Amino acid sequence: MKAVVFEDINKLQLHNDYPKPECKKGWVIIKVMAAGVCATDLDIVAGDFGNPPVVIGHEICGDIVEVGEGVKNFKVGDRVVVETVVKSCGHCEYCLNGNKHLCKDAIEIGFPNIDGGYEQYTTCPESCLHKLKDNISYDEGGILEAVLCPYGLIYRYGIKENEIVFIQGTGVAGLSFIQTVKMYNPKKIIVAVRRKESVDLAYKYGADVVINTSEEDLEKRLLEESDGLGPSLSIDAAGAKKTIEDAVKLTAKGGRVILYGLPRRNTQIDFPVNDIILKQITVLGGTNNELAWDALIDDVSKGKINIKDFVSKTFKLEDYEKAIALLKERPNGFIKAVLHPWEE
Ligand SMILES: [Zn+2]
Ligand SMILES: [Zn+2]
Repeated sequence: MKAVVFEDINKLQLHNDYPKPECKKGWVIIKVMAAGVCATDLDIVAGDFGNPPVVIGHEICGDIVEVGEGVKNFKVGDRVVVETVVKSCGHCEYCLNGNKHLCKDAIEIGFPNIDGGYEQYTTCPESCLHKLKDNISYDEGGILEAVLCPYGLIYRYGIKENEIVFIQGTGVAGLSFIQTVKMYNPKKIIVAVRRKESVDLAYKYGADVVINTSEEDLEKRLLEESDGLGPSLSIDAAGAKKTIEDAVKLTAKGGRVILYGLPRRNTQIDFPVNDIILKQITVLGGTNNELAWDALIDDVSKGKINIKDFVSKTFKLEDYEKAIALLKERPNGFIKAVLHPWEE
């Protein structure tokens, strides 16, 4: 079968005769119909998450074509999405509280060394599968993991009454945060963008106010929009040094900050410690939240979270380099690229 393998640091290679996985007890074989291309894949290929080889791809959607011995809740033909954490101990404090990814034994699919979604068939335990609703397409399913993370953080941390929420980032994470926060009826959602073209995108997904930082003074505008106090909740989905520092500095006294955008390793951040202490700010971080999957699938199915236009372009598996180039380039309007391993 076809597979794209992370073979060496900064080297991916397409194989046409990669061995099809075998179905283990409690696991299933999935015919991969859509695999999202994620910025984290680039970090994996840079060697940030461990050594090669591995088939990358942790945003996976497809059909079950084989079930292993003992699989109870899934059958051949089920359309499924895969939760990234495929292995964990299942009984530590973290696992029992829905934080499997914090388990010291956590292993994630598409990271060294569990083969992921950039291949025609992949395999995972049934414990990390979620059934897709019929009205959710494979392409939407293929990017759902990227939506789950922001969605799951708001699901976990909540939105307070009369909250003024400030969001930075208009990629898949930023737009997912905007839509999710909107569902909780905050007082106002303020989004900062750097490019003129992102203004409409932010409004389309639910921003009340959009500040274009290349033309406007961010701090001044934020204060104007929040009775001179600043936002009570700031979310950084951009992961840049400046956006992280601004998220903390510009938050109102007693407010909260959620950091989600991941800066490249070795990025030096001047963390505004004095602001955190003197303004009594709570800084929260997070990646995924596996407890939120069912709620997310439900909300996408009902159209409360609209990700139909998040898939900007799809590619054959052979064209993975083009997909990655597009991700790096991020042209105007680009949100997500998805690979179709079976497309000829
Ligand atoms: Zn990802
Ligand atoms: Zn555990």
